[in-house]
Amino acid sequence: MSSIAVLIDHDRGVPSGGALEALTAARTLATDLDAAVAAVVLGDSELFETHGASLVAICASYGAAVVHRGRNALLADYGPDAWGAALAAFVEGSQPAAVVAAGTDRGAEAMAQLAARTDLPLVANCVNVVPANDPWEITRIQWGGSLLEDVTLASSLPLLTIAPHSVGAEPCEGDPIDAVVADFSPDLGTEVERTLVRDRVTLTEGITLSTSPVVVSGGRGVGSAEGFAPLEELAELLGGRVGCSRAVTNNGWRNHADQVGQTGTRIAPEIYIACGISGAIQHWVGAMGSKNILAVNIDPEANMVTKAGYAVIADLHEVVPAISDEIRRRRDRRSS
Ligand SMILES: Cc1cc2nc3c(=O)[nH]c(=O)nc-3n(C[C@H](O)[C@H](O)[C@H](O)COP(=O)(O)OP(=O)(O)OC[C@H]3O[C@@H](n4cnc5c(N)ncnc54)[C@H](O)[C@@H]3O)c2cc1C
Repeated sequence: MSSIAVLIDHDRGVPSGGALEALTAARTLATDLDAAVAAVVLGDSELFETHGASLVAICASYGAAVVHRGRNALLADYGPDAWGAALAAFVEGSQPAAVVAAGTDRGAEAMAQLAARTDLPLVANCVNVVPANDPWEITRIQWGGSLLEDVTLASSLPLLTIAPHSVGAEPCEGDPIDAVVADFSPDLGTEVERTLVRDRVTLTEGITLSTSPVVVSGGRGVGSAEGFAPLEELAELLGGRVGCSRAVTNNGWRNHADQVGQTGTRIAPEIYIACGISGAIQHWVGAMGSKNILAVNIDPEANMVTKAGYAVIADLHEVVPAISDEIRRRRDRRSS
């Protein structure tokens, strides 16, 4: 039986949310093509000793019938050259019907490496794939999500990345299946060492902007770095993180790590509270995955206001502290 191979984007044994989305998307493709889903996990012996069993169990719970574990000392940590070369070795040995990966930074890099090494076309950031016809019919996002593009793909081996959050990560229903484990040892040249992770610096502890269920963001309307204190307070009360627009990072009020948007982080919180942000397209593409949006803005015509499910048309410097006060008041009342 042919297989849809899914590269598992993981960080030292912990799969990314995008990898689970890619497995979910691959299940649909596999059904359409009467194929099986095969996961490809790359690491070294130590990684598989520690995380091998859990990685196999997770992949199986998302529908992988086979988990191919590519093992090499140079795969101890992420490296685009090493992952691309290992993936190319897997493709040569296993001849899958298609290769899919998450549209994450790592997924995109490794798949670009694979495409270059195999001289095959790669369609990135797919949101819908119809493999029934030849060529395959695909819709993908372009320009940071502001454009949907219909393309056709005629290739002996389709290579795809799945746009983040375009498919929800859904484990299979029913009892988990036992995946077959197939180990392979890609032969990697020392040239792949040029792009290996050498060191790690922790910038944030706990939840990150991209995984936080609540994001309280500020834009130019906040007015200054100090003006973010009430937003920090609200985010803390709600167990969320503070984000911002590029106008804010350009002004040096906050670090780029907090920027939401095309050139920042894409978020998908349960609620996005956008304060003093106009909602320019480059910001919107990073925020549009939010399940609910509350805009606080003095301009009722601002894009963010017209796109939000909820809006307060008022000065954020009054509204944000008032929300925090009300949350505290209700909590105090409940606890007394
Ligand atoms: C290639 C490229 C990439 C980009 N990438 C990004 C990106 O990743 N992320 C991003 O955010 N932008 C990005 N931008 C910039 C983007 O085009 C906008 O310029 C930016 O998002 C505007 O930020 P803003 O909404 O904070 O500011 P503005 O557009 O100036 O809006 C400020 C808003 O605050 C409101 N306001 C003012 N005072 C108050 C107050 N007291 N109370 C309530 N509301 C108030 C105003 O009504 C207005 O709506 C990019 C641009 C380019 C060209």
